[in-house]
Amino acid sequence: MTKQEVVDHLYGLDDELLFAKSEQVKSLNIGSKVYLRGLIEISNICIKDCLYCGIRKSNSNVDRYQLTFKEVCQSIDFAIGKNFGSVVIQAGERSDEAFILLIKRCLKYAKEKSEGRMGITLSLGEQEQSVYDLWKNEGAHRYLLRIESSSNEIYNKIHPEGYSWNARLEAIERLRKAGYQVGTGVMIGLPFQTIDDLADDLLFMQRLDIDMCGMGPYIEHFDTPLSKFESQFTHKERVALTLRMIALLRILMPKINIASTTALQTLDNQGFKKGLTVGANIMMPNITPDVARKNYNLYQNKPYSTIDLSQFDVAYGEWGDSIHYSLKSF
Ligand code: SAH
Repeated sequence: MTKQEVVDHLYGLDDELLFAKSEQVKSLNIGSKVYLRGLIEISNICIKDCLYCGIRKSNSNVDRYQLTFKEVCQSIDFAIGKNFGSVVIQAGERSDEAFILLIKRCLKYAKEKSEGRMGITLSLGEQEQSVYDLWKNEGAHRYLLRIESSSNEIYNKIHPEGYSWNARLEAIERLRKAGYQVGTGVMIGLPFQTIDDLADDLLFMQRLDIDMCGMGPYIEHFDTPLSKFESQFTHKERVALTLRMIALLRILMPKINIASTTALQTLDNQGFKKGLTVGANIMMPNITPDVARKNYNLYQNKPYSTIDLSQFDVAYGEWGDSIHYSLKSF
């Protein structure tokens, strides 16, 4: 697909055709099953100050928490009990020794308790090579680190001075070096962002040859500096754009894992389902203990409720690794 074709489809040239094609590419290449990753939001403490994020360190309206080791174990047990196949451990960014070791302990527990059967994805921000290696050796095998925008210029506008797009990209390279299945992604409908930028985001992910993608609409959080800037896209348009982005990425990268994200579900109560219909194959039901869930507010109106899984064709007990990655390794 040329960039112009991608741009045309992002403008909504022919959604019916696009979604028919992406559905066909998906079923031919990876089938129609939905793979689950139980999402454990282990802490909202963060050393970063990203201008869009509700749990940025300068937001003093946040009740900060860190789950205890025991609470994380309970969430892991829950995922094992529900036969989820995989969990994602996510948090604000931290690089202190106590945190690194807590993650290590949790990984060890998940592996032992599930007798090696639990697949584990991490989403814990930018870390040193030695930390990525340590967690990989303890059994994590996938890592999500969104580039947020493939445009260096937009990246600089949505982060405080001194944050570097290149540093983020280098962290992605370190993850690859450590041997993870690597996932990245972007926010869709950011202030300053255009359709042309979104087309570039898709081509960037293709060029980077990623194994997994999580992308969703940008949603304002009113306690953040970025919420003072307007996006050119309404919430409704961001939903439409997200669906087109998922469909286009599925066509560009037929065998990668693509998540239907919570942010999409937040702006459209059929969002999960729509994302899966147009090309996504991964869902991350929140299994964070109730006591903490309300405090992991990346954006406004993030849902706390548990999703009804009976409406989906779920592959229980399977890792659902990126086929794209498996093929690369041989
Ligand atoms: N600290 C980790 C995890 C961050 S939270 C890291 O740095 O990777 C996971 C993702 O939530 C972020 O990568 C970002 O893309 C998304 N996010 C944060 N604030 C958001 C907002 N206001 N709207 C939509 N998505 C947001």
